[in-house]
Amino acid sequence: MCTIGAIKNKRTNKSYFFKNVDQTEKSIYQEPFFRQGKNHRFLKIPSSNPTEPGVLAGVNEAGLVVLGADGNCMPNYCGGQYSSLDESLVIYERILSECTTTWEAVSRIMKSYQDLSIGGNGDILIVGDRDEAVAMEYTLDCWGVQFRGFNPYLVRSNFFVLLDHLKPLQEENSLHTSSAIRYTDAMRNLSAKGRLNNLEDVFRLVRSHDQGLNAMSICRHGGDGEYFTHGSVVIELAQNAIKAYVCLNSSPCQGKYEIYEF
Ligand SMILES: [Zn+2]
Repeated sequence: MCTIGAIKNKRTNKSYFFKNVDQTEKSIYQEPFFRQGKNHRFLKIPSSNPTEPGVLAGVNEAGLVVLGADGNCMPNYCGGQYSSLDESLVIYERILSECTTTWEAVSRIMKSYQDLSIGGNGDILIVGDRDEAVAMEYTLDCWGVQFRGFNPYLVRSNFFVLLDHLKPLQEENSLHTSSAIRYTDAMRNLSAKGRLNNLEDVFRLVRSHDQGLNAMSICRHGGDGEYFTHGSVVIELAQNAIKAYVCLNSSPCQGKYEIYEF
């Protein structure tokens, strides 16, 4: 479970991407590092063992960003054989290693997910570069794709916005309550400055506790068995610079963000 977003500042022409990583049980995430991929060098933020393929999120030297949020549909699905969600984390890494533009990434992701039948619960992700960002909602043979276009920001939590009809009912799945609240809070926070959100605004957002110190805020502080935010990534793309701020194994409001620069 995560909150992800892509923001464009129309005055400075800088693009920002963010992802808060939420868990119910503490994983220990390993330190990010730069890795030479097939076509591009990229920042690898390992999803598990650093020697294994798979990233939580990342950016490459071309300024291409991949952020996954995990889907939340069909909770009791039983049917055809799906690949696991871990497969999608491997695809994220392959995109960073091989793709240059958002367009390339979108088509590669679609082909890979279709070929492998990823994740029974589907997936929600954002890919983007300096110019464009795209939110992709997926469940087997079904896609919802939204371009940021002229809008200054694009946000997703863990529920489908475009494939709304595939969401389980609220009564059947309480996870939607938190997803809907985090989505609304993020959109409201970003709307205050519209086209002029800057790096400080993005940090304020990922550390925000609009619902209090509990699992409903964007910086989540759930109790036993509830979701808490255990990692956070903020990426800043300027015309000639790429910076990633990464805070792992801590909540964004308490931890320190390490800076990685291309
Ligand atoms: Zn917090």
